[in-house]
Amino acid sequence: MGGKEFLLLLLPEKKIKMRKRIVYFDNAATTSMDFEVIDEMIRIYNDFYGNPSSIHSLGRASRVIIEDSRRLIAELLNVNSDEIYFTSGGTEAVNIAISGFIHANSIKNVITSSIEHPAVLKTLEYLSGKGLINTHFVNVNHNGEIDLEELKKLIMKNMSALVCLMHANNETGVVLPVAEVSAICENCGAFFMSDMVQTTGKYKIDLGSLHVDLAAASAHKFHGPKGIGFLYSRKSGILQPLVFGGKQERALRSGTENIAGIAGMAKAMEVANRDMQKNELRITALKNYCVAQLRKHIPSVTFNAESDKSGLYNLFNVSFSLEEYNDMLVQLLDMEGICVSGGSACSSGAVKYSPVLKAIGADISRPALRIAFSKYNSIDEIDYFINALIDINIKNNPLKK
Ligand code: PLP
Repeated sequence: MGGKEFLLLLLPEKKIKMRKRIVYFDNAATTSMDFEVIDEMIRIYNDFYGNPSSIHSLGRASRVIIEDSRRLIAELLNVNSDEIYFTSGGTEAVNIAISGFIHANSIKNVITSSIEHPAVLKTLEYLSGKGLINTHFVNVNHNGEIDLEELKKLIMKNMSALVCLMHANNETGVVLPVAEVSAICENCGAFFMSDMVQTTGKYKIDLGSLHVDLAAASAHKFHGPKGIGFLYSRKSGILQPLVFGGKQERALRSGTENIAGIAGMAKAMEVANRDMQKNELRITALKNYCVAQLRKHIPSVTFNAESDKSGLYNLFNVSFSLEEYNDMLVQLLDMEGICVSGGSACSSGAVKYSPVLKAIGADISRPALRIAFSKYNSIDEIDYFINALIDINIKNNPLKK
């Protein structure tokens, strides 16, 4: 390769280095990986490349890594290790939990809400379309909370139903009173599946003491790798596999295991649990500071689902006035190097409004942002974000109209 071509190869990297700083406030979409997790995964990639199904020493060594990881995750959730099944992430775990359960049991009624993740809603839509289930939607109020009295009535009306309700909502941060819901399900003879993707690694979850039958989690939401998650099933034999083959994961999820992903997820969970209290305190302080700064500098802000004062400690959802901001807010922030999610998603040129904000009756014509922090964020980054918002404000800067 000539010197010129070599220099050209360097150019993109130089450009990246010259770019403005990156401020990442989109930690509900995904998180960056913890260095301890990366180190652990490099160790596994280097030394444990045997197929865990092989009977030779390298295969057996990989098997040990998988089973040790399963044991660690189970211990942190206070459940048995044979109740944990590894999957490719939250979406697959939810799909097996719902479809696998419906296919294996003669359950016809599913109770859910309109604010569930598409992993749940699309699976239910598919099963309903095939005539396998009837889906019943429980009401959600303006604060994004489930109507528990209506839930009880729906369960009583539809005996032995499967209840699918998420532990925390990924857009509003509203947290379900999971102990109360699990008790309702237990008392009324319903099965309970909870999407715990947004809470695993953020809270201590004692699954062993809850009447949760099925739960889903995903490593990339708590500083672990992408493409790995797990399904918890309290009872064995209540799920039918959706993928067939080599009978891995006790024949529930065939396919050679993602050993480094599994070990990385276990390490991420261990680190998250070890530092949980410290992180919660720090991130809560960041959230409170950001909310206060927004109120001070942009008085027209409103917080959806009371996410300024309640819900997940790392997340809030805020709407702005149309006089001050337009639909391009996420893109304008991106130009300043700030990564956030909007309340409306622009897909293939068309603005798509958040079904979650719509379902809770928020004013979806106003530009909205979901701000989600992690342990890697700082006050300095929040100040940078607030200054960018002040600059983007149409009243201050008519050019941004
Ligand atoms: N459930 C919730 C609440 C989520 O936020 C997500 C991810 O965005 C998922 C499920 C899907 O998880 P994964 O990305 O691991 O498939």
